[in-house]
Amino acid sequence: MLAKEFYTIIQNEESATNFLISKKLLVNVENVLCDKCSSEMKYYIKKERGKERKLLRCKRKGCQTTQSIRKNNSFWTYLDKNGRNNSGLSIGAQLELVYYWCQDLKQSTIITLTGRSAHTVCDWMNLCRDVPVRIFENRNKLGGPGIVIQVDECLLRGSRK
Ligand SMILES: [Zn+2]
Repeated sequence: MLAKEFYTIIQNEESATNFLISKKLLVNVENVLCDKCSSEMKYYIKKERGKERKLLRCKRKGCQTTQSIRKNNSFWTYLDKNGRNNSGLSIGAQLELVYYWCQDLKQSTIITLTGRSAHTVCDWMNLCRDVPVRIFENRNKLGGPGIVIQVDECLLRGSRK
């Protein structure tokens, strides 16, 4: 994807979120039920300090519990060492880090281009690297006797840095 195309996707949370949903990298609202009352959830736009954030909200009156669309997604959220959900970055900012990781840039270059801290960039590079590693570790589950699994080489690119 061209950088100029990518930047139109992450220019706001709405389009970044929709992009991930279209790629099936975020939950589809139809499959999510409220944690508290098991009612259906629907999308809800919350305005916060001038920014719009897409949430899921329970449809049932009197409940209306909201939850992050990233909840239970082990890539877009992860628990930090204090056991808290990492939600410091917007989806657009997360996508930007993943995009640069895919370009095989050095961490120091990514830090310069994104303005993120070394700590944040390092965390995200590790997270990205885990994806091909996990695919590789699960290879037996995917395959089996007489079943050949072909893994695209580019999936493994950058797995050692
Ligand atoms: Zn509910």
